[in-house]
Amino acid sequence: MRHSPSGSAGLHPSAKFVSQRLALQPHSLHRPRRQGSQNGLAKSSFGERSNSNSPDLLGLLAENEALKQEVAKLRGIPKDQVTVAFSIEDYEQQQQQQQLDLEGEAASSSAQAPPQAQAHQAGAQALGRTDQLESGISWPSFSESPPFWKRPPRHQALNLGEGRAAREVPQDPCSFHIIHVTAEMAPVAKVGGLADVVTGLAKACLERGHQVEVMLPFYECLPEEEIADLQHELDFDAPKGAMWDGQMRLGSLRTQAFRGRIDGIPVILLRPDWRECNIFQGNRIYGGSYNELEAYLYFSRACLEYLLISGSQPHILHIHEWQTSALPLLYWDKYHNDGLKRPRIVLTLHNLDNSGECRQEEFAFTGLPGEMFATIDKALDERTIGHNPERLCLLKGAIIYSNAVTTVSPTYARESLSGGAAGWLQSTLAKPDLRNKFQGVLNGIDTAAWDPAEDAALPAPFTADQWQGKALCKRYLQMGLGMEVDPAKPLVVCVTRLVPQKGIHLIRHGIFRTLEQGGQFVLLGSGHADGEFRSLAEGQLRDHPDVRLLTLYNEPLSHIIYAAGDFVLVPSMFEPCGLTQLIAMRYGTIPVVRSTGGLADTVKDVDASEGDPSSQWNANGYTFVGIDEGSLNYALDRALQHYRDQPEWWAKLSQRVMRIDSSWDLSAASYVTLYKQIASY
Ligand code: ADP
Repeated sequence: MRHSPSGSAGLHPSAKFVSQRLALQPHSLHRPRRQGSQNGLAKSSFGERSNSNSPDLLGLLAENEALKQEVAKLRGIPKDQVTVAFSIEDYEQQQQQQQLDLEGEAASSSAQAPPQAQAHQAGAQALGRTDQLESGISWPSFSESPPFWKRPPRHQALNLGEGRAAREVPQDPCSFHIIHVTAEMAPVAKVGGLADVVTGLAKACLERGHQVEVMLPFYECLPEEEIADLQHELDFDAPKGAMWDGQMRLGSLRTQAFRGRIDGIPVILLRPDWRECNIFQGNRIYGGSYNELEAYLYFSRACLEYLLISGSQPHILHIHEWQTSALPLLYWDKYHNDGLKRPRIVLTLHNLDNSGECRQEEFAFTGLPGEMFATIDKALDERTIGHNPERLCLLKGAIIYSNAVTTVSPTYARESLSGGAAGWLQSTLAKPDLRNKFQGVLNGIDTAAWDPAEDAALPAPFTADQWQGKALCKRYLQMGLGMEVDPAKPLVVCVTRLVPQKGIHLIRHGIFRTLEQGGQFVLLGSGHADGEFRSLAEGQLRDHPDVRLLTLYNEPLSHIIYAAGDFVLVPSMFEPCGLTQLIAMRYGTIPVVRSTGGLADTVKDVDASEGDPSSQWNANGYTFVGIDEGSLNYALDRALQHYRDQPEWWAKLSQRVMRIDSSWDLSAASYVTLYKQIASY
């Protein structure tokens, strides 16, 4: 094994909890109230008082006043500019803690803690001071309503990123005008990784000096308060077919175009007239009561119509997934001839599972007849040849009509060309005249949005060098979910859509295997298999102190879970890229993954004998290949064992994976090279 434990090297030998009197912020004062994390819950240093059943609130407040005065004098500032960290919240917290203590829910004290717990605590303590971090946390309780992830985790904000040197972003010599056309965009219209990729790539290209815009449906559920400078720009009639008395009739749909900025990225939002249709209405991105195929065919056409009317001539139209796949067909066979001359088209395939099947008459929702594209060299679905009627496949058409086609990792690209990942579309991708325009570009993640040093969703920020906040995040999650508070128990997390692609049976098995091995498991998932996990949570695993299965979608909670976890489980049956393992590593959480697609590109087993030692992805997690339970056990068992037996080695691994550069920098450079190859000037 290559991962032999390295003793205590790397841990600060003399580090221990040191209480401090004055806080780092100029005008705030922290009391020396936490004396270590002895029982998983912090103990107040106001020992005599907090041991009493009725803490003297007035006494504490009077003491606060005295301290305020002292600091004001020391700093030469008015007393009311001094804030004291020990406040009503602390008092309530103290009470809460006493309650928990009384109920015996706190973990055992460090004197009683098993040696591994002490090692994990010591690791956390040795890597920095915990008291400042701890003092600002509003510790959660299981009985809290609304739940803890719906309110700020700290009553005193803390940002470890302040003062950090700004990241230097290389500027590209040529500047392109790029418009992404997409059904999803993080954070306002996110269902999965597509949304993250659009926002991350758009931001990275903006930073490199390009002009970038995103065209997105103006879904009814978009939170308008998160769209800066939202303004109505123009109204236009988008040509559109509509079913009327069982007949497709060609007409148009009045459409409003809005402009604004989402997460700093300029956006163009298109909204159909809701007096005439219910397209994009409802409280979710997908699954409204409208016809989805009709909605995105309309949207693809409306985007081109908008560009023509507004006179915009971007260099690149970057489209994503089947939802926008009609666009290249409409562009090259119509709009390019109508005067929209400059754009060239890049298609990114995020998941080949849904190829956009479309009957010929349905294509007429775009306002153009489907027969125009029903030939083998265009969009005809080859599986339907000889059927009556023959169908179209939007993704096939887009692969043929786009100037360049990418998918989201090199391995998934290979699997699409030679394995089964692309299904019948493999023959289209592998056609000699198309093969050269297809490549895999590994996704990055938005390292500003996923930054444990500055993440406002976390109870305690942390970095690879100041790592102690991670242990506090774990304790916070354990407390908030009412689990056993124990730093020594390996915590396996899984954040996922609950669909067959994600390996539902292995997630289920992973839960039980983790429990058998003395670990803890937290699942945050939503999707088709919600019911299965909900019944586990409410039945067999109900009240189990080591497992919580949360069948919901919640972004802030996902941040806390990534930060709190020791391991993230990603047992996907196939995975074009996978973002959860990248995000988890950014938060020091070690991936346990099935080696497929992008997971195979980004996670290499710590025990593998071959690998590229110079690669940042080398020896950074645990992998398995088979789709059976035994294969998962092989990876998971080793992970849990290493965590227990070699805590210091594990801590270093966690810190090392945090330093991996998974930003969009490299991937954006690859996309810009691609744009350069196909752009028309
Ligand atoms: P996919 O796009 O196939 O769902 P990815 O790994 O590419 O998978 O991206 C998943 C994204 O969705 C990640 O940002 C992940 O954190 C997020 N996510 C998935 N499920 C949930 C959930 N239940 N709650 C919050 N975020 C989730």
